[in-house]
Amino acid sequence: NRHLETVDPEIFRLIQREEQRQFSEIQLIASESSASTAVIEALGSCLTSKYSEGYPKARYYGGNIVIDEVEMLAQSRALDLFGLSPDEWHVNVQPYSGSPANLAVYTGLLKPHDRLMGLDLPDGGHLTHGFRNARGAVSATGLFFESLPYHLDPATGLIDYDALEKSALNYRPKLLICGASSYPRHIDFARMRSIADKVGAILMCDMAHIAGLVAAGAHPSPFPYCDVVTSTTHKTLRGPRAGIIFCRKEFAKKIDAAVFPGLQGGPHDNAIAAMAVAFKEAKEPEFKECQFQVVKNASALGKRLVKGGVKLVSGGTDNHICLCDVKSSLGIDGARVERVLELSHISVNKNSVPGDKSAFVPGGLRLGTPLLTSRGMDEKDMEKVGDFLLEGIDIARTLKKTTGTKKLKEFKRAVDGMGGARIKEIAE
Ligand code: PLP
Repeated sequence: NRHLETVDPEIFRLIQREEQRQFSEIQLIASESSASTAVIEALGSCLTSKYSEGYPKARYYGGNIVIDEVEMLAQSRALDLFGLSPDEWHVNVQPYSGSPANLAVYTGLLKPHDRLMGLDLPDGGHLTHGFRNARGAVSATGLFFESLPYHLDPATGLIDYDALEKSALNYRPKLLICGASSYPRHIDFARMRSIADKVGAILMCDMAHIAGLVAAGAHPSPFPYCDVVTSTTHKTLRGPRAGIIFCRKEFAKKIDAAVFPGLQGGPHDNAIAAMAVAFKEAKEPEFKECQFQVVKNASALGKRLVKGGVKLVSGGTDNHICLCDVKSSLGIDGARVERVLELSHISVNKNSVPGDKSAFVPGGLRLGTPLLTSRGMDEKDMEKVGDFLLEGIDIARTLKKTTGTKKLKEFKRAVDGMGGARIKEIAE
């Protein structure tokens, strides 16, 4: 018997503990969701042992007849899921994750030190959109390429498209990036296209966060407007940790060469198989229904919080995210709230909000509903979750220390009652 439990009981038990945590805590991390048993089976399969540098039917290793079929199936399912014609669109399913997928686009379509523009990290963008801080480049994407960020309008919490257009006309980027990690509203893809056209830029959307919503039709699609669309497959898409790049056919050769041999070696065939499974599952009516429910749940959660005095950046949400400005509305920072909630079995993440000075002690919290929704929770549950959040925020504001206090212990017990019990009830 060479099963994990016998070979490595320590890791076995740690995995068991994490599984228990995932299935009992109230999880509101916006970038997480729950991969199905079928996805995890593909991920844990013998495909992890294969080497297959190259692309289907053009590999640098023998023994890839089956792997070729797996990769081609993943490609055709990816195009089909987003309603794309193989005559117009190409897809590369080999990126190891979202960050390498983005870097592959830049290295494939730009020259070193060409200019790009993306939403600034503190305004909700991602590190890989060229992030630099006052001391210089933080992400390699800001080191090897010149980047100028665009921003939110602090008054509305929405992307300031007019200011973006003005600076794009001055800066003349080769690549304009839309897409975000913590932006609760729809992005105006048509406006982004028009700005890209005015400066002759390639338009890329990084739809990592919203890919599942887009696949289900619960969010507008970036494809009609963009030249390139990247994504992770492990957020709302509920697949394995991996990345994917869609591009118009004219860019196909450059993108493929940038992924392999430009940046990567052998593809993770087990992840590619698992992504094919996730794309199949995403065509099922239950997935679609769930993605619409994710949006309804975020809206219900946001409304409950606003009623309790929390300010939402932009005043609400159109997607799976509520971005809460707890500093300006309740006078407490996001880091302290995150810690108190974590000790009480609610996972959220602290997040910058417009006007913040520090990323370590920001004024906001990012809450996402994909995971709880995939566990079967609905708007009624979100009201209860909202009540817990408000109580947790209140405890964080009033307690002097965060460990060992009776109040915190009682709160944790109440949360366990809701999280574990409700998830069990839904499962039965
Ligand atoms: N793009 C966006 C918009 C993201 O939010 C993230 C991750 O949070 C990434 C890219 C990077 O993905 P990964 O963590 O898989 O590298």
